[in-house]
Amino acid sequence: MLIGVPKEIKVHEYRVGLTPESVAELVLDGHQIIVETGAGVGIGADDAQYAASGAEIVADAKTVFARADMIVKVKEPQAVECAMLRPGQILYTYLHLAPDPEQTKALIKSGAVCIAYETVTDAYGDLPLLTPMSQVAGRLATQVGATALQKVGGGRGVLMGGVPGVAPAKVVVIGGGDVGFNAAQMAVGMQADVTILDRNNIVMERLNYHFENRAKVVRSTPAVLAELIKTADLVIGAVLIPGAAAPKLITREMLSTMMDGSVIVDVAIDQGGCFETSKPTTHADPTYVVDGVVHYCVANMPGAVARTSTYALNAATLGHAKKIAKLGWKEAMREDAHLLDGLNVCEGQLTYAAVGEALGIDT
Ligand code: NAD
Repeated sequence: MLIGVPKEIKVHEYRVGLTPESVAELVLDGHQIIVETGAGVGIGADDAQYAASGAEIVADAKTVFARADMIVKVKEPQAVECAMLRPGQILYTYLHLAPDPEQTKALIKSGAVCIAYETVTDAYGDLPLLTPMSQVAGRLATQVGATALQKVGGGRGVLMGGVPGVAPAKVVVIGGGDVGFNAAQMAVGMQADVTILDRNNIVMERLNYHFENRAKVVRSTPAVLAELIKTADLVIGAVLIPGAAAPKLITREMLSTMMDGSVIVDVAIDQGGCFETSKPTTHADPTYVVDGVVHYCVANMPGAVARTSTYALNAATLGHAKKIAKLGWKEAMREDAHLLDGLNVCEGQLTYAAVGEALGIDT
Protein backbone atom coordinates (compact mmCIF):
# COMPACT_ATOMS: atom_id res chain seq x y z
CA MET A 1 0.00 0.00 0.00
CA LEU A 2 1.11 3.59 -0.59
CA ILE A 3 0.84 5.44 2.73
CA GLY A 4 1.05 9.23 2.96
CA VAL A 5 1.96 11.46 5.90
CA PRO A 6 1.17 15.17 5.46
CA LYS A 7 2.50 17.88 7.79
CA GLU A 8 -0.14 18.83 10.37
CA ILE A 9 -1.59 22.27 9.65
CA LYS A 10 -3.84 22.91 12.66
CA VAL A 11 -2.54 25.86 14.70
CA HIS A 12 0.05 24.81 17.33
CA GLU A 13 -0.05 21.16 16.27
CA TYR A 14 3.49 19.78 16.28
CA ARG A 15 2.78 16.04 16.31
CA VAL A 16 3.03 13.90 13.16
CA GLY A 17 1.15 10.80 11.99
CA LEU A 18 4.14 8.46 11.74
CA THR A 19 7.56 8.57 13.42
CA PRO A 20 10.62 7.60 11.35
CA GLU A 21 10.67 4.30 13.29
CA SER A 22 7.06 3.55 12.31
CA VAL A 23 7.91 4.37 8.70
CA ALA A 24 10.80 1.88 8.82
CA GLU A 25 8.47 -0.82 10.16
CA LEU A 26 5.90 -0.25 7.41
CA VAL A 27 8.66 -0.25 4.78
CA LEU A 28 9.86 -3.59 6.17
CA ASP A 29 6.31 -4.89 5.68
CA GLY A 30 6.70 -4.02 2.01
CA HIS A 31 4.76 -0.75 1.89
CA GLN A 32 5.72 2.50 0.21
CA ILE A 33 5.64 5.68 2.33
CA ILE A 34 5.56 9.31 1.20
CA VAL A 35 6.14 12.07 3.76
CA GLU A 36 5.59 15.79 3.21
CA THR A 37 8.80 17.77 3.66
CA GLY A 38 9.11 19.13 7.21
CA ALA A 39 6.30 16.90 8.56
CA GLY A 40 8.45 15.72 11.49
CA VAL A 41 10.08 19.03 12.37
CA GLY A 42 7.88 19.47 15.46
CA ILE A 43 9.16 16.23 16.98
CA GLY A 44 12.78 16.85 15.99
CA ALA A 45 12.74 14.39 13.05
CA ASP A 46 14.03 15.91 9.82
CA ASP A 47 13.52 14.81 6.22
CA ALA A 48 16.88 13.00 6.23
CA GLN A 49 15.69 10.74 9.07
CA TYR A 50 12.50 9.88 7.22
CA ALA A 51 14.46 9.25 4.03
CA ALA A 52 16.88 7.01 5.94
CA SER A 53 13.86 5.05 7.21
CA GLY A 54 12.81 4.43 3.64
CA ALA A 55 10.29 7.21 2.99
CA GLU A 56 10.12 9.31 -0.12
CA ILE A 57 9.98 13.00 0.76
CA VAL A 58 7.51 15.01 -1.30
CA ALA A 59 7.18 18.77 -1.64
CA ASP A 60 3.61 19.38 -0.49
CA ALA A 61 0.41 18.01 1.01
CA LYS A 62 -1.25 18.09 -2.40
CA THR A 63 1.14 15.41 -3.63
CA VAL A 64 0.60 13.30 -0.50
CA PHE A 65 -3.18 13.42 -0.83
CA ALA A 66 -3.09 12.86 -4.62
CA ARG A 67 -0.88 9.75 -4.45
CA ALA A 68 -1.53 7.92 -1.16
CA ASP A 69 -3.98 5.03 -0.68
CA MET A 70 -4.04 5.78 3.06
CA ILE A 71 -3.39 9.09 4.81
CA VAL A 72 -2.07 8.83 8.39
CA LYS A 73 -2.48 12.01 10.44
CA VAL A 74 -2.96 13.21 14.03
CA LYS A 75 -5.60 15.94 14.07
CA GLU A 76 -8.92 16.07 12.28
CA PRO A 77 -8.50 17.18 8.66
CA GLN A 78 -8.90 20.90 8.12
CA ALA A 79 -11.19 22.14 5.33
CA VAL A 80 -8.39 22.28 2.73
CA GLU A 81 -7.38 18.73 3.61
CA CYS A 82 -10.97 17.42 3.40
CA ALA A 83 -11.16 18.93 -0.08
CA MET A 84 -8.09 16.90 -1.16
CA LEU A 85 -9.48 13.51 -0.06
CA ARG A 86 -10.83 11.29 -2.82
CA PRO A 87 -13.39 8.45 -2.98
CA GLY A 88 -12.10 5.19 -1.54
CA GLN A 89 -8.99 6.78 0.02
CA ILE A 90 -8.41 5.78 3.67
CA LEU A 91 -8.03 8.49 6.31
CA TYR A 92 -6.66 7.27 9.67
CA THR A 93 -6.54 10.01 12.35
CA TYR A 94 -8.39 11.65 15.26
CA LEU A 95 -11.70 13.03 13.93
CA HIS A 96 -13.94 14.07 16.90
CA LEU A 97 -16.92 14.50 14.57
CA ALA A 98 -19.78 14.86 17.09
CA PRO A 99 -19.31 18.62 17.67
CA ASP A 100 -18.15 19.30 14.10
CA PRO A 101 -20.91 19.23 11.44
CA GLU A 102 -18.77 21.02 8.82
CA GLN A 103 -16.01 18.43 8.91
CA THR A 104 -18.54 15.58 8.99
CA LYS A 105 -20.29 16.87 5.87
CA ALA A 106 -16.96 17.41 4.10
CA LEU A 107 -15.83 13.86 4.89
CA ILE A 108 -19.14 12.40 3.71
CA LYS A 109 -18.81 14.41 0.50
CA SER A 110 -15.23 13.23 -0.05
CA GLY A 111 -16.24 9.58 -0.46
CA ALA A 112 -13.20 8.59 1.64
CA VAL A 113 -13.04 5.82 4.28
CA CYS A 114 -12.49 7.70 7.53
CA ILE A 115 -11.30 5.84 10.62
CA ALA A 116 -11.30 7.80 13.90
CA TYR A 117 -8.61 6.92 16.45
CA GLU A 118 -10.90 7.96 19.29
CA THR A 119 -13.62 5.37 18.61
CA VAL A 120 -11.42 2.30 18.04
CA THR A 121 -12.09 -0.05 20.98
CA ASP A 122 -10.33 -2.98 22.66
CA ALA A 123 -11.41 -6.22 24.32
CA TYR A 124 -11.98 -4.41 27.65
CA GLY A 125 -14.35 -1.87 26.08
CA ASP A 126 -11.69 0.83 26.50
CA LEU A 127 -10.52 3.32 23.87
CA PRO A 128 -6.86 2.33 23.46
CA LEU A 129 -6.00 5.04 20.93
CA LEU A 130 -7.19 7.75 23.34
CA THR A 131 -5.47 6.32 26.43
CA PRO A 132 -1.93 7.42 25.56
CA MET A 133 -3.01 11.06 25.31
CA SER A 134 -4.74 10.82 28.71
CA GLN A 135 -1.54 9.33 30.13
CA VAL A 136 0.48 12.21 28.70
CA ALA A 137 -2.02 14.84 29.93
CA GLY A 138 -2.14 13.30 33.41
CA ARG A 139 1.62 13.23 33.84
CA LEU A 140 1.94 16.72 32.39
CA ALA A 141 -0.80 18.04 34.72
CA THR A 142 1.40 17.42 37.74
CA GLN A 143 4.42 18.90 35.99
CA VAL A 144 2.64 22.13 35.02
CA GLY A 145 0.93 22.28 38.42
CA ALA A 146 4.31 22.06 40.15
CA THR A 147 5.64 24.89 37.97
CA ALA A 148 2.57 27.07 38.62
CA LEU A 149 3.04 26.57 42.37
CA GLN A 150 6.36 28.41 42.14
CA LYS A 151 6.30 32.18 42.81
CA VAL A 152 7.23 32.90 39.20
CA GLY A 153 4.19 30.87 38.09
CA GLY A 154 1.88 32.94 40.31
CA GLY A 155 1.68 30.20 42.96
CA ARG A 156 2.20 30.23 46.71
CA GLY A 157 5.83 29.22 46.47
CA VAL A 158 5.48 25.61 47.58
CA LEU A 159 7.79 22.76 46.59
CA MET A 160 5.91 19.55 45.71
CA GLY A 161 8.03 17.26 47.85
CA GLY A 162 8.87 19.76 50.61
CA VAL A 163 12.24 19.01 52.26
CA PRO A 164 13.12 17.16 55.47
CA GLY A 165 11.38 19.12 58.22
CA VAL A 166 9.00 20.98 55.88
CA ALA A 167 5.68 19.50 54.79
CA PRO A 168 5.17 18.61 51.12
CA ALA A 169 2.47 20.14 48.91
CA LYS A 170 -1.06 18.81 49.30
CA VAL A 171 -2.31 17.53 45.95
CA VAL A 172 -5.95 16.57 45.33
CA VAL A 173 -6.71 14.64 42.14
CA ILE A 174 -10.42 14.51 41.24
CA GLY A 175 -11.08 11.43 39.10
CA GLY A 176 -8.81 8.37 39.21
CA GLY A 177 -9.08 7.15 35.59
CA ASP A 178 -6.29 7.35 33.02
CA VAL A 179 -5.55 11.06 33.56
CA GLY A 180 -5.95 10.98 37.35
CA PHE A 181 -3.92 7.81 37.84
CA ASN A 182 -1.00 9.22 35.85
CA ALA A 183 -1.22 12.62 37.56
CA ALA A 184 -1.18 10.90 40.95
CA GLN A 185 1.75 8.70 39.96
CA MET A 186 3.85 11.78 39.19
CA ALA A 187 2.77 13.60 42.34
CA VAL A 188 3.57 10.56 44.48
CA GLY A 189 6.92 10.31 42.72
CA MET A 190 7.62 13.93 43.69
CA GLN A 191 6.78 12.96 47.28
CA ALA A 192 3.74 15.23 47.55
CA ASP A 193 0.88 14.47 49.95
CA VAL A 194 -1.64 13.01 47.48
CA THR A 195 -5.37 12.34 47.75
CA ILE A 196 -7.31 10.82 44.83
CA LEU A 197 -11.10 11.09 44.64
CA ASP A 198 -13.33 8.84 42.56
CA ARG A 199 -16.85 7.42 42.70
CA ASN A 200 -16.35 4.09 40.98
CA ASN A 201 -15.66 1.24 43.45
CA ILE A 202 -13.58 -0.78 40.99
CA VAL A 203 -11.45 2.26 40.16
CA MET A 204 -10.97 3.03 43.87
CA GLU A 205 -9.95 -0.55 44.60
CA ARG A 206 -7.45 -0.50 41.75
CA LEU A 207 -5.97 2.80 42.95
CA ASN A 208 -5.77 1.58 46.52
CA TYR A 209 -4.08 -1.63 45.44
CA HIS A 210 -1.54 0.26 43.32
CA PHE A 211 -0.67 3.13 45.63
CA GLU A 212 -1.05 1.35 49.02
CA ASN A 213 -0.13 3.98 51.60
CA ARG A 214 1.57 6.35 49.14
CA ALA A 215 -1.72 8.09 48.26
CA LYS A 216 -5.10 8.33 49.99
CA VAL A 217 -8.06 7.10 47.94
CA VAL A 218 -11.35 8.71 48.98
CA ARG A 219 -14.93 8.47 47.69
CA SER A 220 -15.84 11.67 45.92
CA THR A 221 -18.75 13.57 47.47
CA PRO A 222 -19.42 17.31 47.36
CA ALA A 223 -18.81 17.55 51.13
CA VAL A 224 -15.47 15.73 51.03
CA LEU A 225 -14.32 17.80 48.08
CA ALA A 226 -15.36 21.07 49.73
CA GLU A 227 -13.28 20.18 52.79
CA LEU A 228 -10.20 18.95 50.90
CA ILE A 229 -9.79 21.94 48.59
CA LYS A 230 -9.54 24.37 51.53
CA THR A 231 -6.05 23.11 52.35
CA ALA A 232 -4.94 21.90 48.90
CA ASP A 233 -1.96 23.47 47.17
CA LEU A 234 -2.72 21.80 43.83
CA VAL A 235 -6.07 20.43 42.61
CA ILE A 236 -6.13 18.42 39.37
CA GLY A 237 -9.50 17.98 37.63
CA ALA A 238 -9.60 14.63 35.80
CA VAL A 239 -13.21 13.48 35.83
CA LEU A 240 -15.07 12.07 32.87
CA ILE A 241 -18.68 11.10 32.46
CA PRO A 242 -18.60 9.43 29.03
CA GLY A 243 -20.61 11.29 26.43
CA ALA A 244 -21.49 14.17 28.77
CA ALA A 245 -20.08 17.55 29.69
CA ALA A 246 -17.82 17.47 32.76
CA PRO A 247 -19.78 18.07 36.00
CA LYS A 248 -19.01 21.41 37.70
CA LEU A 249 -17.73 19.91 40.94
CA ILE A 250 -16.08 23.08 42.26
CA THR A 251 -18.33 26.10 42.20
CA ARG A 252 -17.23 29.71 42.28
CA GLU A 253 -18.26 29.82 45.94
CA MET A 254 -16.16 26.78 46.80
CA LEU A 255 -13.20 28.27 44.92
CA SER A 256 -13.23 31.27 47.24
CA THR A 257 -12.40 28.92 50.15
CA MET A 258 -9.11 27.89 48.51
CA MET A 259 -5.80 29.42 49.55
CA ASP A 260 -4.29 32.38 47.70
CA GLY A 261 -1.64 31.07 45.31
CA SER A 262 -3.07 27.57 45.20
CA VAL A 263 -3.30 26.05 41.71
CA ILE A 264 -5.92 24.17 39.75
CA VAL A 265 -5.13 22.21 36.58
CA ASP A 266 -8.43 21.39 34.86
CA VAL A 267 -7.54 18.59 32.45
CA ALA A 268 -11.26 17.96 31.85
CA ILE A 269 -11.48 21.37 30.16
CA ASP A 270 -11.91 19.64 26.78
CA GLN A 271 -15.29 18.48 28.11
CA GLY A 272 -16.09 21.93 29.53
CA GLY A 273 -14.05 21.60 32.74
CA CYS A 274 -15.00 20.52 36.27
CA PHE A 275 -14.46 23.93 37.91
CA GLU A 276 -17.14 26.57 37.39
CA THR A 277 -14.41 29.17 36.83
CA SER A 278 -12.54 27.20 34.13
CA LYS A 279 -12.26 28.51 30.59
CA PRO A 280 -10.03 27.09 27.86
CA THR A 281 -6.52 28.53 27.57
CA THR A 282 -3.66 27.94 25.13
CA HIS A 283 -0.04 26.89 25.47
CA ALA A 284 0.92 30.47 24.54
CA ASP A 285 -0.94 31.86 27.59
CA PRO A 286 -1.86 28.85 29.74
CA THR A 287 -2.87 30.36 33.10
CA TYR A 288 -5.10 33.05 34.62
CA VAL A 289 -6.11 33.88 38.19
CA VAL A 290 -9.57 33.89 39.79
CA ASP A 291 -9.99 34.64 43.53
CA GLY A 292 -6.22 34.30 43.95
CA VAL A 293 -6.26 30.75 42.53
CA VAL A 294 -4.07 30.06 39.49
CA HIS A 295 -6.05 28.24 36.75
CA TYR A 296 -4.32 26.13 34.06
CA CYS A 297 -6.91 25.03 31.48
CA VAL A 298 -5.15 24.06 28.24
CA ALA A 299 -7.47 21.92 26.11
CA ASN A 300 -4.74 20.17 24.07
CA MET A 301 -2.11 19.50 26.72
CA PRO A 302 -0.28 16.68 24.82
CA GLY A 303 0.73 19.21 22.15
CA ALA A 304 3.21 20.71 24.63
CA VAL A 305 5.25 17.52 24.54
CA ALA A 306 4.80 16.72 20.85
CA ARG A 307 7.67 14.29 20.66
CA THR A 308 6.58 12.12 23.60
CA SER A 309 2.97 12.36 22.45
CA THR A 310 3.77 11.30 18.88
CA TYR A 311 5.75 8.29 20.05
CA ALA A 312 2.99 7.37 22.53
CA LEU A 313 0.36 7.74 19.84
CA ASN A 314 2.32 5.67 17.31
CA ALA A 315 2.74 2.89 19.86
CA ALA A 316 -1.06 2.67 19.94
CA THR A 317 -1.93 3.35 16.28
CA LEU A 318 0.76 1.51 14.33
CA GLY A 319 -0.63 -2.02 14.86
CA HIS A 320 -3.92 -1.13 13.21
CA ALA A 321 -2.15 0.87 10.47
CA LYS A 322 -0.10 -2.21 9.63
CA LYS A 323 -3.20 -4.39 9.53
CA ILE A 324 -5.08 -1.98 7.25
CA ALA A 325 -2.04 -1.66 4.97
CA LYS A 326 -1.61 -5.43 4.75
CA LEU A 327 -5.23 -6.50 4.32
CA GLY A 328 -7.02 -3.40 3.04
CA TRP A 329 -9.64 -1.73 5.21
CA LYS A 330 -12.51 -4.11 4.38
CA GLU A 331 -10.69 -7.32 5.26
CA ALA A 332 -8.95 -5.72 8.27
CA MET A 333 -12.32 -4.68 9.69
CA ARG A 334 -13.90 -8.06 8.93
CA GLU A 335 -11.14 -9.62 11.03
CA ASP A 336 -11.15 -7.03 13.80
CA ALA A 337 -14.43 -5.71 15.20
CA HIS A 338 -12.55 -3.24 17.41
CA LEU A 339 -11.05 -1.58 14.35
CA LEU A 340 -14.51 -1.55 12.74
CA ASP A 341 -15.65 0.51 15.74
CA GLY A 342 -13.30 3.19 14.43
CA LEU A 343 -15.12 3.54 11.13
CA ASN A 344 -16.97 6.89 11.23
CA VAL A 345 -17.51 7.74 7.57
CA CYS A 346 -17.41 5.25 4.70
CA GLU A 347 -17.60 6.13 1.03
CA GLY A 348 -20.20 8.88 1.31
CA GLN A 349 -22.07 7.50 4.33
CA LEU A 350 -21.84 8.41 8.03
CA THR A 351 -21.41 5.08 9.82
CA TYR A 352 -21.06 6.03 13.49
CA ALA A 353 -24.42 6.13 15.28
CA ALA A 354 -23.46 8.48 18.14
CA VAL A 355 -22.21 11.10 15.67
CA GLY A 356 -25.38 10.71 13.62
CA GLU A 357 -27.50 11.27 16.73
CA ALA A 358 -25.46 14.31 17.77
CA LEU A 359 -25.66 15.92 14.34
CA GLY A 360 -29.03 14.68 13.12
CA ILE A 361 -27.49 12.91 10.11
CA ASP A 362 -28.65 9.43 9.01
CA THR A 363 -26.21 6.54 9.48
P1 NAD B 1 -11.41 8.11 32.50
O1 NAD B 1 -12.77 7.69 32.08
O2 NAD B 1 -10.28 7.16 32.40
O3 NAD B 1 -11.47 8.60 34.04
C1 NAD B 1 -12.45 9.47 34.53
C2 NAD B 1 -12.72 9.13 35.98
O4 NAD B 1 -13.58 10.15 36.53
C3 NAD B 1 -13.44 7.78 36.18
O5 NAD B 1 -12.66 6.94 36.99
C4 NAD B 1 -14.75 8.19 36.87
O6 NAD B 1 -15.19 7.22 37.82
C5 NAD B 1 -14.33 9.50 37.53
N1 NAD B 1 -15.43 10.37 37.95
C6 NAD B 1 -16.61 10.63 37.33
N2 NAD B 1 -17.33 11.49 38.07
C7 NAD B 1 -16.61 11.78 39.17
C8 NAD B 1 -16.82 12.59 40.33
N3 NAD B 1 -17.95 13.30 40.48
N4 NAD B 1 -15.85 12.65 41.26
C9 NAD B 1 -14.71 11.95 41.10
N5 NAD B 1 -14.46 11.15 40.07
C10 NAD B 1 -15.40 11.07 39.10
O7 NAD B 1 -11.10 9.46 31.70
P2 NAD B 1 -9.64 10.07 31.42
O8 NAD B 1 -9.09 9.45 30.20
O9 NAD B 1 -8.86 10.01 32.67
O10 NAD B 1 -10.00 11.58 31.04
C11 NAD B 1 -10.37 12.55 32.02
C12 NAD B 1 -10.65 13.87 31.32
O11 NAD B 1 -9.45 14.41 30.78
C13 NAD B 1 -11.61 13.75 30.12
O12 NAD B 1 -12.47 14.87 30.12
C14 NAD B 1 -10.69 13.79 28.94
O13 NAD B 1 -11.35 14.24 27.77
C15 NAD B 1 -9.71 14.81 29.44
N6 NAD B 1 -8.43 14.90 28.69
C16 NAD B 1 -7.98 16.17 28.47
C17 NAD B 1 -6.76 16.36 27.82
C18 NAD B 1 -6.26 17.77 27.65
O14 NAD B 1 -5.32 17.98 26.88
N7 NAD B 1 -6.81 18.75 28.35
C19 NAD B 1 -6.01 15.28 27.35
C20 NAD B 1 -6.50 13.98 27.60
C21 NAD B 1 -7.72 13.80 28.28
